[in-house]
Amino acid sequence: MADWDILSAAVRYLAGVGPRRAEVLARVGVHTVRDLLHYFPRRYLDRSTIVPLRRLDEHVGVATVVGVVRLVGMVEGKGRKRFELILEDESGGRLKCVWFNRLGWVSKAFKPGDRVAFHGKVQRFGYTFSMTHPDFDRLDGEGAALATGRIIALYPGGAALEKVGLTSRTLRRILHAFFKQHGLKLPEVLPTWIRTRYELIDGRVALRAVHFPRSQAELARARERLKFEELFFLQLMLAHSKQIRQVVAGPRFGPPGERFHRFLNDILPFELTGAQKRVLDDIIRDTMSGLQMNRLIQGDVGSGKTVVAMAAILHAVDNGYQSAFMVPTEILAEQHYANMRRYLDPLSVEVRLLLGGQRKSFREEMLAELAEGRAHVAVGTHAVIQESVQFYRLGLAIVDEQHRFGVVQRAELLGKGENPHTLLMTATPIPRSLAMTLYGDLDISIIDERPAGRKPVITWIRSEKRRGEVYAFLREQLRQGRQAYVVYPLVEESEKMDLQDAQNGYQRLKELFRSYRVDLIHGRMLPYEKEEAMARFKNGATDILVATTVIEVGVDVPNATVMIIEHAERFGLSQLHQLRGRVGRGAEQSYCILMVDSRRTTEAEVRLQVMAETDDGFKISEMDLKLRGAGDFFGTRQSGLPDLKIADITQDQPILIKAREAAFELIRRDPKLEAPEHAVLRAYYERFYATQSLGFARVG
Ligand code: ADP
Ligand code: MG
Repeated sequence: MADWDILSAAVRYLAGVGPRRAEVLARVGVHTVRDLLHYFPRRYLDRSTIVPLRRLDEHVGVATVVGVVRLVGMVEGKGRKRFELILEDESGGRLKCVWFNRLGWVSKAFKPGDRVAFHGKVQRFGYTFSMTHPDFDRLDGEGAALATGRIIALYPGGAALEKVGLTSRTLRRILHAFFKQHGLKLPEVLPTWIRTRYELIDGRVALRAVHFPRSQAELARARERLKFEELFFLQLMLAHSKQIRQVVAGPRFGPPGERFHRFLNDILPFELTGAQKRVLDDIIRDTMSGLQMNRLIQGDVGSGKTVVAMAAILHAVDNGYQSAFMVPTEILAEQHYANMRRYLDPLSVEVRLLLGGQRKSFREEMLAELAEGRAHVAVGTHAVIQESVQFYRLGLAIVDEQHRFGVVQRAELLGKGENPHTLLMTATPIPRSLAMTLYGDLDISIIDERPAGRKPVITWIRSEKRRGEVYAFLREQLRQGRQAYVVYPLVEESEKMDLQDAQNGYQRLKELFRSYRVDLIHGRMLPYEKEEAMARFKNGATDILVATTVIEVGVDVPNATVMIIEHAERFGLSQLHQLRGRVGRGAEQSYCILMVDSRRTTEAEVRLQVMAETDDGFKISEMDLKLRGAGDFFGTRQSGLPDLKIADITQDQPILIKAREAAFELIRRDPKLEAPEHAVLRAYYERFYATQSLGFARVG
């Protein structure tokens, strides 16, 4: 027992908390004392950051002000009913704060004489300055603190916290009492050599200073240290799990054999690109090493990942092993299956397609073939990982578009067979910072070169006004024998409405393009219906395919040269990039037209401009991440993103890189964290992180 056991104590035992407040704190994720210490301020107030009300005219944009409430009242004039408040400060200026929502609550929240800090966007109407729905913090009794130049921490709040009296002020009081009583017992978890090398301040000092900074300089150093620490432990988990996996034995393949060479030399109608060759070399090296391969292939749409995967499958077959190939959608499974049959049938490789809802006898026959080793490859959606599927000798598991799968499904696939080699493929070029965070425990190969002769897709942004022009262009392309996609967003919450939208679009296009064949495909259709619609488009029976985003991944129709994306502003940039990758697959020049809602044109255009300017998936994803933040980058379905309390993956890349370097070096130097100088770190890691990865106890 260390005397810092206090860190894992329930927060309700702290002076000033108690059961009622503890319950509310639990709702914001604060359960233990450590959680409370890591409940970081969202903003700080000090004299230098407060704008005197007189000075507001010099201050466009967001500002923080502090003053005394003079007047409050409901206003019912023209327009919506609203609540208004007039704030004054010593400078003699005034600010009006306005609320349109939650009027009942806000009208009770303020009374004349209250001292309050407001934070928000300053608007100007003539000589009046105002903020609408500003953030605020009550500062009653704290004017003195600010006047003497102290920096005051403001915490993320909300009505629930306020209701039980957990204002910023109370939180500071609770934390202050804690530091006074227990501050000296807190551990320094980072070893000296790491602190020295990265010039980090003491952890205890940092923790105290982040809540009670004495100067902006101290605050900056405290935040830097705490961000480092947070990212360091994240990387330590990755380094640790990588270390565990690196000693896991995998099937030991021999050198590439006959089928592999025939595929590359006789069957493929083209030469691999340099990047494809490099990645294939990585795979061959890994699979011959005797250790399990855990490799991620990152490559833009159309960079030729599937071909690499097929070569890897043949390498496995040559060595007497089976492969599983898992993809996120049935359409994609069908396509990969057809593709593989085309290339692998001549090599007498038996490929099977496993989907949900197949006829029982048919499915059972396939399962028997896989279990007895008569079939070599199973392609499918998550049906491939169902318990009923047994392999005779699974040597290679491939997951395509892997970011679409949850961590659990990925793990399930890996649970099949005896530690098969795994190859994860993704066409979402993940920014470096995210890749380091999500896949820091994998080896990464990048295909950064496209097959020769591809023309970049020309991209235009068009508003509703120019729809006529867009259709005229579409007509011209169709006349030349080309095909087109028209894509509608399908956002889960409003699925019904969006589907309606796509259906209306389909009807309209059918009427406008009477001499052409228009078809509709969406996620609510039965698998065989989707399959048929896709097949009709692929073999040219359909000219215009109206689709919701089911076509997002992988579908390959080289004659399609036009993609019109409706409500483009509702898609993330990375998703648009994926969609756009569906055209530009043949010899003809292709076009992507982003239709934007006229009402939102300017804002959307700025963002979408990136699409028109570059087709470099990595650049687009960096931008996307910057604009949307890590949480939204993959959509809500992406699990496995760490919940960071102080660091920000987008903003703090330089710190992330250092933290990663430190964590990996630590594991290299002291793989089991046995050195005395790492004892505290090890105890801390095992207590607070090992549950999320694997304890060192299980390694040593
Ligand atoms: P990805 O899965 O990365 O999106 P694919 O493997 O589906 O890409 O390849 C896209 C298209 O490019 C396919 O039609 C494929 O046959 C073709 N292709 C792949 N590699 C090459 C290459 N080295 N040279 C020419 N064409 C290639
Ligand atoms: Mg692909």
